[in-house]
Amino acid sequence: MQFKDIIGQGHLKQQLISQVREGHVPHAQMFLGQLGYGGLPIALAYAQFLNCANPQPDDSCGECPSCLKMQKLAHPDLHFSFPFPSVEKRKTSTESITEWREVLNQSPYLSLHRWMVKFNAENKQPNIPITECHDVMRRLSFKAYEQGYKIMLIWLPEFLGKEGNTLLKILEEPPAQTVFLLVAENIETVLNTIISRTQIIKVSPINQQELADALVEKQQLQPEEAYRIAGLANGDYIEAQDLINHAAAEHAGLFEQWMGALLSRNNDPMAYVKWSDTFGALGRESQKTFMLYALHMLREVLYLQVYNRPSEVLTGSEKSVVSEMSAKFDQEKMARFADWLNEAYYHIERNASGKMLMLDLSIRVSKLVKVLVKV
Ligand SMILES: [Zn+2]
Repeated sequence: MQFKDIIGQGHLKQQLISQVREGHVPHAQMFLGQLGYGGLPIALAYAQFLNCANPQPDDSCGECPSCLKMQKLAHPDLHFSFPFPSVEKRKTSTESITEWREVLNQSPYLSLHRWMVKFNAENKQPNIPITECHDVMRRLSFKAYEQGYKIMLIWLPEFLGKEGNTLLKILEEPPAQTVFLLVAENIETVLNTIISRTQIIKVSPINQQELADALVEKQQLQPEEAYRIAGLANGDYIEAQDLINHAAAEHAGLFEQWMGALLSRNNDPMAYVKWSDTFGALGRESQKTFMLYALHMLREVLYLQVYNRPSEVLTGSEKSVVSEMSAKFDQEKMARFADWLNEAYYHIERNASGKMLMLDLSIRVSKLVKVLVKV
């Protein structure tokens, strides 16, 4: 992981780089902030920079043997400690290192939920047991394999119960050239004895524009939609991804009903009224994410028309909705539909009645569709 791969956080990156350049490397730091702000990727980039054989002014080189091993999360002096489900028969993080590398390779913006899903244990309590604390001490008792720092990255020290106190001494006085990097989200649930032995580095929310740019690049959103989601997510990349996924899971059915009513042959206005009632009953935030989902689906129609096949992000039923829509909307009509959805979003944000807005929008869209049908 290099600093350049981190979303936003320019100021913090600079601060960390100068710290290393000036030779002030604290022996224990805690990166504190919502996981979606990037504490873990920042700690990984920092670890890589610390041990890079050829550091550049703003980043690790990404090419030296140390960097290559760091990128694969396989550097012999980079150690991890993290919670895992207590039902598992595993006793140490090392036993789960393969799963850990797999999830981090997908994205280092890791949530506890995604980590637990990896074990099919969403509803189980994660834990850092005493056996793991002993293993941390054991691993740090060996000499470093290579030149440079030996790094112990502890993800979510919140899960260290009182057995975490066994680590206090080594945290306070680690062996030479040994650095602890802790990544935490909730300081209230970290042992005070641990907090007092670390230097806290606050990780702030990602700037809205920088988060939006990342969503455009990594999630293929349109800039306007990305900016809105970045705003709703309050600078949290994981939250932004959740919003995108939840919007689909939450709204796919409702959107399908809407299109069903609008595109059906008998074109019954009572169906719009009924549908608008359902929409009006949603909470405001939910109404807003519905609009984003609808815009996303319009874009998918465009994709289908351009590439002659549906995009891979769609589920089976979404694919059929998109292909029905594609038969009724040409690109000009879709552009108008998208404008109206954008307007509706604007008004919902300003407390307009979702029910009235959508009834009006349904009538307009149905007229738009009819014109095409006549042709
Ligand atoms: Zn390097």
